[in-house]
Amino acid sequence: MVDLDKSRFSASSSAQQVFDPSQALNSDDLEKSWENIQGRMRADLGDTIWRSWIRNLRLVDITGGVIKIGAESRFVCTRVSSQFTDRLRQHCHVEWGNVKDIQIDVLRGGQLPPPLPSSGPVRASDQPVSPPRVASVYDEVSSKLDPRMTFDNFVVGNPNNFAYAVATRVAEIDKPIFNPLFLYGGVGLGKTHLMHAIAWEKRKRFPDLRIVYLTAEVFMNRFIKALRHKNTIQFKEEFRSVDVLMIDDVQFIGGKDSTQEEFFHTFNALTGHNKQIIISADKSPTDLSGVEERLKSRFNCGMVADIHPTTFELRLGILQSKAEKDGLDLPQNVAECLAHKITTNIRELEGALNRLSAYSSLMGKPISIDSIYDALGDILRASNKQVSIAEIQREVAQHFNIKLNEMHSKRRSKNIVHPRQVAMYLSKTLTSKSYPEIGRHFGGRDHTTVMYATQKIEKAMIEDHAINDDIKIIKSLLNVS
Ligand code: ADP
Ligand code: MG
Repeated sequence: MVDLDKSRFSASSSAQQVFDPSQALNSDDLEKSWENIQGRMRADLGDTIWRSWIRNLRLVDITGGVIKIGAESRFVCTRVSSQFTDRLRQHCHVEWGNVKDIQIDVLRGGQLPPPLPSSGPVRASDQPVSPPRVASVYDEVSSKLDPRMTFDNFVVGNPNNFAYAVATRVAEIDKPIFNPLFLYGGVGLGKTHLMHAIAWEKRKRFPDLRIVYLTAEVFMNRFIKALRHKNTIQFKEEFRSVDVLMIDDVQFIGGKDSTQEEFFHTFNALTGHNKQIIISADKSPTDLSGVEERLKSRFNCGMVADIHPTTFELRLGILQSKAEKDGLDLPQNVAECLAHKITTNIRELEGALNRLSAYSSLMGKPISIDSIYDALGDILRASNKQVSIAEIQREVAQHFNIKLNEMHSKRRSKNIVHPRQVAMYLSKTLTSKSYPEIGRHFGGRDHTTVMYATQKIEKAMIEDHAINDDIKIIKSLLNVS
């Protein structure tokens, strides 16, 4: 083990590493230790999460027990700081002892280290073989799982890849790894799907685990019934003897004090016995309203993973995957049109596809752009916000404090380009105009410029809260949601 108080190693913010001559370690030792830590993080978190967040972290400096770690972007830095610092600290401590602090910051201009040799992801075949499942009372306590909501049927894209990676990791291990796992996101974005998928996968891998899935509402109703029938002892026993407790839509317990009280005790009893708890909600723990602070802080203790609003690519992917599974012949232009027009959530997108398919089989006609308008006219009208490109340009220019004519100008300075791209994105998502038409409204720009801008802003909205907020504000000023 290396004595951190005596050692000193540093890498400058340029690609060159600089070592203090008084260091107690040589660089090879440090590289080796850092590789060990990376290897343990990988074994802990699983390959997908490790590759997304940890692999490219770089050890920058160790001085007097303070470990500085560089991340490739602000986005990675925020995620690693909020979710992985404790785990990093734990592993650094094993490797180096006396760790006083871990600081993670953005690495500017630093070379990323080459990928480490594999320490091997955990494979299904590495899992212990479980005895066959015995029919248990827990199937009665648990609500039914939807057979379609599996990992196989879950389409992964930018907005949900973190939640997906964490969910698959939790599903493939029989001991709690992140406890609790807290999944959150807006309506119809896939929270319940991921919860069911975890339950299916865990059942398959560990048939003797007692897994209970229910919504917070069902939990409350059971609790009230137990109170009424004076058999709360049985209720407590049932819930406190499970191995995995999954509570969906936990926001429901907001303002329901005695249910929260009971849930709090169940939560403590289970985590105290090292049992896995998985929760979903429509908001982050901190933003849940009417929920006691002590519960919120428990929720924040484990892994919090959010699912973002969909992007065009994800919507398109989901439509194509669903069409393929249902054996539907869905032309590309129809899929693209739906993915552009129905942006609210995945449930509505699926509903639209089902209606389209029912309509075409009823009429005996193949699915086409025309059938979209016949079958989905009302949905499209509802989502067809009556807003013009000129209005969008005006609001965006005002919001970013630039002149309206900059929307058409050829100037390419950053403070002009960004608002212009935001306006192009909004024009694509809020009007029915095509890329070339939109290009014409922006000083005769090419359709590829508009496509690029739309994709860029969609991506930026996921990675940058400030941009997301800008878009929300502008939409509210345009009276669209
Ligand atoms: P939530 O619980 O967040 O309100 P659901 O999990 O019920 O949303 O998802 C709504 C519908 O969309 C479900 O039919 C679900 O199967 C589907 N869905 C959500 N996310 C995905 C995805 N990434 N891939 C495929 N289907 C999805
Ligand atoms: Mg749900």
